Amino acid sequence: KYSIKELLNKGKFFINKKVLVEGWIRSFRYSIFIILNDGSTIQNLQIVLSKNKLDKTIMKKITIGSSIRVIGIVKKSVGKKQYIELQSLKINIYELVNSDILQKSILQPKKHSFEKLREQAHLRFRTNIFSCIMRIRHHIAFCIHKYFHEHGFFYLHTPIITTSNCEGSGKMFQITTMDFKKNKLIDYTKDFFKCKTYLSVSGQLEAETASLGLGKVYTFGPVFRAEDSNTSRHLSEFWMIEPEIAFYHLEENINLAENFVKFVIQYTIENSTEDLIFLNQYLEKWNKKKKNYLLEKLELILKFPFKKISYTETIKILDQEEKKKNIKFSHPITWGMDLQSEHEQYLVDKYFKKIPVIIFDYPCNIKAFYMRMNNDGKTVRAMDILFPEIGEIIGGSQREERYDILLQRMKDTNIDINKLWWYLDTRRFGSVPHSGFGLGFDRLVQFITGMNNIRDVIPFPRTPKNADF
Ligand code: ATP
Ligand code: MG
Ligand code: MG
Ligand code: MG
Repeated sequence: KYSIKELLNKGKFFINKKVLVEGWIRSFRYSIFIILNDGSTIQNLQIVLSKNKLDKTIMKKITIGSSIRVIGIVKKSVGKKQYIELQSLKINIYELVNSDILQKSILQPKKHSFEKLREQAHLRFRTNIFSCIMRIRHHIAFCIHKYFHEHGFFYLHTPIITTSNCEGSGKMFQITTMDFKKNKLIDYTKDFFKCKTYLSVSGQLEAETASLGLGKVYTFGPVFRAEDSNTSRHLSEFWMIEPEIAFYHLEENINLAENFVKFVIQYTIENSTEDLIFLNQYLEKWNKKKKNYLLEKLELILKFPFKKISYTETIKILDQEEKKKNIKFSHPITWGMDLQSEHEQYLVDKYFKKIPVIIFDYPCNIKAFYMRMNNDGKTVRAMDILFPEIGEIIGGSQREERYDILLQRMKDTNIDINKLWWYLDTRRFGSVPHSGFGLGFDRLVQFITGMNNIRDVIPFPRTPKNADF
């Protein structure tokens, strides 16, 4: 029994051998060919039926989407498209799809909008475009572990249930306890944890404490944000990668982030080649993107060092550009403001011509309490990485390692010290300079696959008003 990927990859080896394959019918033609796909690759296997009675009755019955099992002999293909095909000896039908039902589904072979595919998210995996994205997603996830493992990091599992709000802002989902037998909510004060609990927005604080013992750690898990932002880049549940490193300064953190994303993109180009080429063609054809758009975009990321500028320089640039070029941002440019996506997009896409930008040393007032205060008393050792098309992809910083200053920052920003005493406490036991960052995994997948909407790169998207399937 072989996957179609194995058969096609080692075509020569299988010639004249008897094999078993299973899959779903993508199409059929001239009453002897069935085009089969099993999800292992974007490519299909051509099955050649004989003209005997049994095969003829099968041909009459089958519909697109139906599941079958084929035993056959691998032959060199006469057609040019593929090296091999399968001469069938025996076909079993698992299940036939009713043609009326097929008509209404996204399996009906024609161009469906991404919105339509989302409405049938449970069937999306059977389409070329979505299966392609899922395979690429897998390779990206895999090489993230590979990178960190090979660089001496330990994979850390941080809790999803928490009592604290990592950022000191942001909205969180509260956990309630339900008695399904009585169909009644259980009062939190009497329930399991005896206090209010939430779904975590980040594993950073726990990962920091782990790095202060293990040296280099990273998390890669789901996080939750109850923000009501209906954009093409925000999900309510997404996957975050968070390395934390002891004895590490901001500059080292910035270099790590750049090397890391470049590695991931390089690995994906090398290991998802077929799927990326398919996506590239798809985007050119259906989204009218320019020729070689996707591959050129990815190669541009690898080609040049990322631009590195301080927040103060950023403000200067934006201000000058506004005066010089007669552009008007809807938020006026002043030192101290939070950068909005219009500013970020202008910087990467227009000013730096699609080369990623790393902005560092942000005003402390717009950043979280845990970031290392600079000597100027106004800025913190923060860094954001902005990517073309998509904007912020990474947010990170050197962490405040000095007990007194951290305590003061927590007080100033109204952080509940009773909840985060353990975090503060690490600064009394051999505290050291340390750094880390958070990368939104789904946003990275979105960038690499060139999708317009983040909902189209995650199997079952969770967004405001949408948690059904
Ligand atoms: P944004 O400005 O885009 O809302 P953020 O600054 O609120 O992002 P951080 O708290 O810095 O986000 O999280 C780190 C990274 O996680 C971001 O750089 C981004 O890649 C990703 N991210 C943040 N929020 C979301 C979300 N709702 N859905 C998907 N990815 C997200
Ligand atoms: Mg946000
Ligand atoms: Mg942001
Ligand atoms: Mg951020």
